[in-house]
Amino acid sequence: MANTPGGAAALPSVDRVLRLPAIVAMIESHGRVAVTEAVRSTLAALRAAMIRGAASGPREILDRDIVVRVDATLAKVVAPTLRPVFNLTGTVLHTNLGRAPLPESALAAIVDVARGASNLEFDVASGRRGDRDSHIDDLVCRLTGAGAATVVNNNAAAVLLTLNSLANRREVIVSRGELIEIGGAFRMPDIMARAGSRLKEVGTTNRTHPGDYESAIGPRTAALMKVHTSNYVVHGFTAEVTERELSGIAHRHGLPLIVDLGSGSLVDLRRFGLPYEPTVADVLSAGADLVTFSGDKLLGGPQAGIVVGRPDIVARIKRNPMKRALRVDKMTIAALSSVLRLYLDPDRLPERMPTLALLTRSPAELRALAERIAPPVRSRLGNIATVEIEPCRSQIGSGSLPVESLDSTALTIRPTVPRREQGAALNRIVAAFRTLPLPVIGRVQNGAFQLDLRCLVDETRFVAQLAPLNFHTGSDR
Ligand SMILES: *Cc1c(COP(=O)(O)O)cnc(C)c1O
Repeated sequence: MANTPGGAAALPSVDRVLRLPAIVAMIESHGRVAVTEAVRSTLAALRAAMIRGAASGPREILDRDIVVRVDATLAKVVAPTLRPVFNLTGTVLHTNLGRAPLPESALAAIVDVARGASNLEFDVASGRRGDRDSHIDDLVCRLTGAGAATVVNNNAAAVLLTLNSLANRREVIVSRGELIEIGGAFRMPDIMARAGSRLKEVGTTNRTHPGDYESAIGPRTAALMKVHTSNYVVHGFTAEVTERELSGIAHRHGLPLIVDLGSGSLVDLRRFGLPYEPTVADVLSAGADLVTFSGDKLLGGPQAGIVVGRPDIVARIKRNPMKRALRVDKMTIAALSSVLRLYLDPDRLPERMPTLALLTRSPAELRALAERIAPPVRSRLGNIATVEIEPCRSQIGSGSLPVESLDSTALTIRPTVPRREQGAALNRIVAAFRTLPLPVIGRVQNGAFQLDLRCLVDETRFVAQLAPLNFHTGSDR
């Protein structure tokens, strides 16, 4: 009997399992070490279950069962945890879902330099040591009108490095209306403290005037700073000081104006029918001495933080030892340089830049897509839910245009069960979409599961992988 101590002896030895044809095949693809480890832990778990004699413990173990269990154990170890998903949340630049999708040219550029050696920090013409920023700084300057540029790991790093370079143990004046917190623990006061800068808050949450900055300037002031309020708007009885006014005040006192622009577009999005977002060039021409922005927000590139501005200040930033700790990898530079090159031909950006392509998808196109994919989704869900095509609003996300949204189309899935079971039924549906081979992430709103189709590009793959949903039997269990 399996639930007597002697039952454990019914298990085969590790060696015998390793000779099973299915296991031999696993060794061929995953190697002996990983498979042996998986066999050992599978047999140990089975032995423990048999000794416990739990009702759930298996009574008789077939080789076939062992193979299935080893396969599952192995999959947990060898399968990558980072993998693609369908972002149907309606937030195009979704930080938790990896922000900007990269253009093909950037992907090719990454592969090209990642495979072998490159001239990352080597000047091929002179044969001397080079500077990794040299692969992007001329392009960035051309596209923004800046005098100099440098690149670090992300915009948070750009802000940290800038403040530490310019205002270590000195004061930086910021409006109380701009002390932002961005998702993922980026809080301006905390970053300032870590940069060694003293935050001097001025004005109030809703109103800050030029005189507030003016009277806060003292002998310990290192810079004035303006922070783009990326993820909220101060609305109503408000006043803020523009970059132009602020740069006037800063320069009269011989101080630099730093602007953390957050998203920072390189082109005026209105030319593509999108709402206005201040461009890096606009802010520089309004008198900012230094602007920091992200590479993977509206710019549509890889994660990076870009600092542009006055050459003497950028040079100081580049000399800071912290720059070495925050620098970017060759893959980032390859992708960023490739994306920046696309901006040299702004007319063709919407076809070549996935972010812009998604943001500018036409309502008619989204509607047609919805008409095509609603039937297969409906048939998979059977009678457990209704699937309707409904208008919805997409957001740009990642701190761009927080209150603006774009007309879009969604599949809205509502469970057809009595009201008190609706929450549980909805959760089961949401979880089922999440456990598909390419997890489908939507948003739950008003008791429904909404799939905003704006970011659905690989329609064929989406439909082809719906089979495991398997609700069409009529059972919702
Ligand atoms: C997004 C954002 C940051 C942080 O940028 P990351 O690239 O995510 O590090 C900082 N400041 C502002 C204003 C932002 O919008």
